[in-house]
Parts: sequence; C-alpha cells; structure tokens
Amino acid sequence: MTHVTQKTDAFFERARQVMPFGVASNFRWWGDGHDIGVARAEGAYFWDLDGNRYIDYRLGFGPVILGHGYPAVVERVAEAIKNGTIFAFTHELEVKVAERIAHMCPGVDMVRFANSGGEATMHSLRIARSHTGREKIVKFEGQYHGMYDYMLFSTASSPASALGHRRSPIPSVVSSGIPKALHSLVIPVPFNDFETLERTVRQTWSDVAAIIVEPILGNAASIMPQPGWLELIRDLCDEYGIVMIMDEVKTGFRIAPGGAQEFFGVIPDLVTYAKAMGNGFPIAVIGGKREVMGSVGPGRTAHGGTYCGNVVGTAAADATLEIIARGDVLKTIEARGSALMQGISRVLTAAGIAHHVLGVPAMFGIALCEEKPTDYRAWAQADNDLYERIVMALVRNGAVPDPDSREPWFVCAAHTEQDVGETLSYFEDAVKVATGG
Ligand code: PMP
Repeated sequence: MTHVTQKTDAFFERARQVMPFGVASNFRWWGDGHDIGVARAEGAYFWDLDGNRYIDYRLGFGPVILGHGYPAVVERVAEAIKNGTIFAFTHELEVKVAERIAHMCPGVDMVRFANSGGEATMHSLRIARSHTGREKIVKFEGQYHGMYDYMLFSTASSPASALGHRRSPIPSVVSSGIPKALHSLVIPVPFNDFETLERTVRQTWSDVAAIIVEPILGNAASIMPQPGWLELIRDLCDEYGIVMIMDEVKTGFRIAPGGAQEFFGVIPDLVTYAKAMGNGFPIAVIGGKREVMGSVGPGRTAHGGTYCGNVVGTAAADATLEIIARGDVLKTIEARGSALMQGISRVLTAAGIAHHVLGVPAMFGIALCEEKPTDYRAWAQADNDLYERIVMALVRNGAVPDPDSREPWFVCAAHTEQDVGETLSYFEDAVKVATGG
C-alpha cells in the first residue's frame, strides 16, 4: 500500500503544542514522526488522518472485544442515556451488570464500580489493607496495575537491570514524583519464581495485606503462569491470611466468559475487571467474595466516585457482557487468534528466527529468543529491537499490533479469516524488510 502521512505529521505538530508529546497517555507515544493520528474506526479496522486503513490488533490496549463501534453496544448506550447519565443514586443498570458479573465469574459475590482499571486495582489494595490490617503488597515483576503511585514499581517499564538479584529483588520505581515512603510498601517477586515467592511470604507475611497477580503477564508479552503457580499463590494466601487479588483488567471477559478464574480454575479473594467488559466504553469493577467485599462501606473502608456506575459505562457493559456470556464470540476470537499464532510462528521459522509465541489466542505475545521466557527478566533477553523493526514494517503494510513486544496482540470478534490471511502475508513481507531478506 502507499503509506501517506502528510496530514498525520501536521496534526502531531499541532497536538504537541497543547499536550505533552502530543498524546493523552504516555503509552501512546511511539516517537516523533512515528505516531498515528486516528480519524475513525469500525469493526476490526481504523483509518488514519491520511486515509490509510489498518487492521487493528491493539484495540485500544485490549478493550475492544467485539469490534469498534459495535452496533448492539452503541445502540444500548444511546438508548439508555436518553434517560440521563448520572443520578447520585443507584439505578437499574448497575444492579443488572453486577448480577451478570456475579453470574459469569466464579469467585464474585459482590462488586463495586469504577471507571478505569487503575482505579479498580487501587481500590482493591485499600480493601485488602483494611481487611487484613496490614500494609505491604507483593507484586510480580513486569506486571502493571495502573498509573497511581502505589504500584509504579517493577512494572514492564522497569529496565531488567534495575530489578536486583532475583533472590532479593529491588522495588524499581518507574516514575519521578513517587513518594519515597511508598517504596517500602511494595515487595516485588519474579513471576513464576516459586522458591522466591514462598521464601518471601514466609519471611514477611505478617506485614503483607495482598498478593496481586496478573494471571497472564498481559503487560509482558502474555507470559503464562507455570502449572501450579496461581495455585501456590492461592495456598500461601490461605495459609497466611493474605488477600489474593487477581488483576483481570486484560484477561477478564476475554480469555473465557468468566476470565482467568474460569480458565485456570483458581479463585481469588478480590478481582478487578475493566477493558473488555465495556467494549471500549470506560467502566471497571472491583469484585470478590462477600466476606472481603463486606469491608467496604461508610465508616469502614472508603470507596466511591462521582462517575462510579454511570449510565454510559453500565449500559455498555450490560450489552457487552450479554453477548460475551453466549460464548460464541470468544470461540471466534480463539479461532482467529490461533490461526495468527500458528501463521506467525510458521513465517518466523521459515525465516530462521528463533521465537516463542506466548499466551492465548485472544491475547498473545511474541518473544524472539531461543529459551521460552517465563518471567519479565527473561523477556528482556529477547531480540526486541528486531521485533520492533518487523512491526514497524507491518504497520506500514496495514496491520497494527504494538511495536513494543511487551504489549500483546489483541484479537476481536470482528477480525475475519480474510483479515488473518492479509495480516500473515503482510507479516511475511515485514520480516523480509526487517531482516533485509
Ligand atoms: N491492570 C492491568 C493488568 C492493565 O493491563 C492495565 C492497563 N493496561 C491496568 C490495570 C490499568 O487500567 P487503566 O489503564 O484502565 O487504568
């Protein structure tokens, strides 16, 4: 395709005057001259300001599970908001969505609404602290839980060289502006490191309120939990009275109708959902067992917000969850994702590039390395520069996963077999361009 970028370049000149780096979120900055200005999106595609069409595998960092502008969701929202968007009282849609989630997700008895994944995980930490009377949080390296101060340590933005020895990891802060006092509240552990986790918990449990885990490393190439890993976390939490929080912001309603709890059969005490539950409309929840969620309430544990449970988000979730609960859209996604995973692997093998395709069809990652990575430190050893060169060539061809190999490819129900075929032929070409073949 002829890849024109004239209007896009001028647009970013303008954007940079009024927004730092010309973006509304740091994660969206691809480098000056590389960013894409979006004009519109529909189904599995978006168009840039110069009229180029792209097959979208970023899908807004994961929320768009059915396809952009999915009519049944948009219509449900448009209909609902005719009767108001926010009331400062409880309304029918909130209860309906809460009931849907409790029905779909094995470990959820009760929920409270939030508006973003970060807000939901932040509240889950407070609930865990309140429930246990303890303050420290165990998190895993390469996990991201949101943009607030408590959790910006040892995320996928930390260089692996800043994480310390794997037997005694260092909380690596990833931003300026985070109070020093918070460093002592985070205990990082490498993902899938059974021995370090067990030893750490046995040494520190009396201070530990929660272990927060992304069941699949959705911010580090979709690295999977080793058999027994989630079960070990569950057992340690039971043994030491620690709250197990599963951050399902990326996996929820995507890898199974009941998310990772259903997929892996491990039930946490608290769980957070966002992204796919609203097909791109802003909505999130903190859910969990009645006993733990019962900590929330006036005079007990604070939770609230003007927009929590607003009509826009709950109407979108009502329509999206109704469709996901039927199961067929996730089957379509699995079929398309599997075809992509296999096809990509075939192309890389033919080109003689050592690789592993990680994760599950609905959100998979690619690591260009010999050894299969099982944690963030190992991902950092992969040839991520080559991956970026391949993806930037792929983007110019018209298919857009994230050039950062930490971010998975997301698949939606609108991706067709033809999209998959086109993507694979673009990918084959992109590998040739990137390797000079
Ligand atoms: N948790 C996980 C696992 C995430 O991937 C993200 C966002 N990528 C968040 C939390 C934060 O969600 P939000 O951007 O909606 O605040």
